[in-house]
Amino acid sequence: MSAYFLDTSSFANQRERFLEAAARVEATVATYPHPMHGPRGETLSTDVATVGPADAQKRLVLVSGTHGVEGFYGSDSQIALLDNLRDHALPEGTCVVLVHLVNPWGTAWLRRVNEDNADVNRNYIDFTQAPPANIEYETLHEIYLCRDLDGPERQRADEQLATHMRDRGEARVRNIIEAGQYRHPDGVFFGGTQQTWTNRTVRQIMQAHVASARTAIAFDLHTGAGAYGHPMLMTIGERKVPAHDTAQALYGPWLYTILTAENASSDSGVAATATGYTSQALIDQLADVDLIPLVIECGTYDGARGHTLLRDDHWLHLHGDPFDATGRRIKAALLEHYYPADAHWRELIALRTRQIWQRALDALTTM
Ligand SMILES: [Zn+2]
Repeated sequence: MSAYFLDTSSFANQRERFLEAAARVEATVATYPHPMHGPRGETLSTDVATVGPADAQKRLVLVSGTHGVEGFYGSDSQIALLDNLRDHALPEGTCVVLVHLVNPWGTAWLRRVNEDNADVNRNYIDFTQAPPANIEYETLHEIYLCRDLDGPERQRADEQLATHMRDRGEARVRNIIEAGQYRHPDGVFFGGTQQTWTNRTVRQIMQAHVASARTAIAFDLHTGAGAYGHPMLMTIGERKVPAHDTAQALYGPWLYTILTAENASSDSGVAATATGYTSQALIDQLADVDLIPLVIECGTYDGARGHTLLRDDHWLHLHGDPFDATGRRIKAALLEHYYPADAHWRELIALRTRQIWQRALDALTTM
């Protein structure tokens, strides 16, 4: 194993900082070990820190790292909240459940997907039923199998993709791809063929740490879609549920509602055609809790750039070597795409994230 992968941004470093911050506020910590290792041979886990009485009726639930590489934003935000709680007591009868890096393999390997090349945020479907079909993806799949990073095959794949976008419209093609697909484990936005480790673990965590609450507001934390430096607060669901109205009343025009369906579109940068989002797992798993499932999605660079980087990273894990110089370059670009180093970007999203959570904590006192 090697000095590659980025020295400052690693799973182990992030976990250590999270656990230190949790210890400083005397949080209760539960660890869910992951069966695989990171690029440095490091052990992987999801850690759950609970601040406040574990039997509190009201809970703020914060989930980071569904898309592994996006976890640096979520983790840093969770650490900032823990630090903030050193000087600010929680409202009575409230606890905060911080679920740290639910796709630890993806964070460690700087990937959006997990160890099965699965998009965890497409995996929360009912696998006892036939998974959603994505017929149109079939015509695009070949593009993502190309064996060159740059060279004639990649050029051909680029041309193929450009042709599809010209013929069908760029937004339509992006929708088809990002809707997820359940047939090709070597494809992109693969939703898996069974519950992933993350899926099973998140359900277990919700059962153990949230299910006994009366009321909960939950946030799944993401980056990479939307306008640069703009954290978008969202509800995502297959249909409008009563919680949407409560959330709308709570956040007013800050809240963006996305209803997903086969042919739905959205101007948010988030795929409205997809199913199997984290929110769905929380709704299913917390049937007896009065739950508001929310998403924060922080905009970074433009989507076309992101898609090229995802293609590069997909190539890297199919045909390349994540430990060589090319691998390192791709990883650095991917991390920058999902967690820009720009101090002003980070300041804005940290501020907005704190505001959103403060409003949730205030609201819980009246719920
Ligand atoms: Zn994401």
